[in-house]
Amino acid sequence: MAVPRIGRLAAVVAAVAVVATPAAVMGADTATRSRAEPAWVAANPSWVPAGAAPDSPAPAASRRPTASPSRASAAEPERTGRAPRQLTVIASGDVLLHEALHRQAQRDARAAGVRGYLFDPIFAAVRPVVSEADLAICHLETPLGEPDGPFTGYPRFVVPPQIAATLARTGYDTCSTASNHTIDDGEQGVYRTLDALDAAGLRHAGSHRSAAEAATPTILTVRGVRVAHLSYTFSLNGLRRPADKPWLVNDLRADAVLAEARRARAAGAQIVIASLHWGTEYQQRPNSMQVNLARTLLASPDIDLILGHHAHVVQPFERIGDKWVVYGMGNHVAWQHQSDVTRDGVLARMTFREVGPGRWRVVRAEALPTWMHLSNPARLVYVPAALADPSVRPPVRAACLAARARIAAAVAARGGPAVEIP
Ligand SMILES: [Zn+2]
Repeated sequence: MAVPRIGRLAAVVAAVAVVATPAAVMGADTATRSRAEPAWVAANPSWVPAGAAPDSPAPAASRRPTASPSRASAAEPERTGRAPRQLTVIASGDVLLHEALHRQAQRDARAAGVRGYLFDPIFAAVRPVVSEADLAICHLETPLGEPDGPFTGYPRFVVPPQIAATLARTGYDTCSTASNHTIDDGEQGVYRTLDALDAAGLRHAGSHRSAAEAATPTILTVRGVRVAHLSYTFSLNGLRRPADKPWLVNDLRADAVLAEARRARAAGAQIVIASLHWGTEYQQRPNSMQVNLARTLLASPDIDLILGHHAHVVQPFERIGDKWVVYGMGNHVAWQHQSDVTRDGVLARMTFREVGPGRWRVVRAEALPTWMHLSNPARLVYVPAALADPSVRPPVRAACLAARARIAAAVAARGGPAVEIP
């Protein structure tokens, strides 16, 4: 597929005037913060004003995860006197490409002079903040089709596979694929989806092409640290896996998650992150299954962080012990305008710090708000950047302020330590 350079998209994207600038999206300098801060930074959140001095991120080449096994040096404990190692992980909610978004991608492709579907302009506003993280995790809710279709929407989704390359170019490194739609297009849909993610250079977790693949945890090497990504779903919308292929998609059961987490540790994972597709649609309160399962899973030393999705609305962040669960990140990119809250999303940015040899804890939790602009053109808006941009039109600014307030309330609803909302 002909892939336009991002620079060629600038003219398309500029029409919306919500493109994030690096200065507006980056937080405080983690390198200088790390020495002065108490162990639990999130308990005392700092306000990061829009336009604050940007971080001095490491060169891109050193920040991107690779599929290669970690080198011996990665396992060495920190030498005394050096600042502890840190990693930032950013994650987002449902990528759910309703048909109106296919049409937007066709219009954007035409405008950029490429064939077919181009999703990059829809995601362009979050590209700086997503690509700046050491590890970026998305949730691909639906199966991918053939490049020219046919495609379908609700209730059985099959969406353009061109989304895979866009997610990679946006900065994502790995996608969870276990959802209630994973087998909407049968087993072939699973195989096609994973092949497309592989072709785009994206790692994935949650669905599989074989028993062997299902038995092997997804582990990424991020700046020398081995990070496992697990993915499970509570529902398949009543569809059944073929009897001889129970490994096609992961079923959300505590014992299964814990068993895979143990396998990941045995394979050398220092950080284990579980993406869980769960909750009650359109409910901002986590349900009892979510609350109970979060406690069970985080009680295990094998799981460090839970990232939830499915409800299509933002749900709380909660600190349990010294770990976090993000119950729900809302929609990332979707076309759902039945209520304001379905246009809201949150990027969960978690800073892990090495607190002992091979032991990592989240020391900073941030909720970065997003909002879907659903008129023509449809665009994902990165709220902090939009609010910092004087050229953003007043109605969009007002919508961003309202979204930020809704998201702040939802994220804090379980009374845990405040999370940071720029
Ligand atoms: Zn779902």
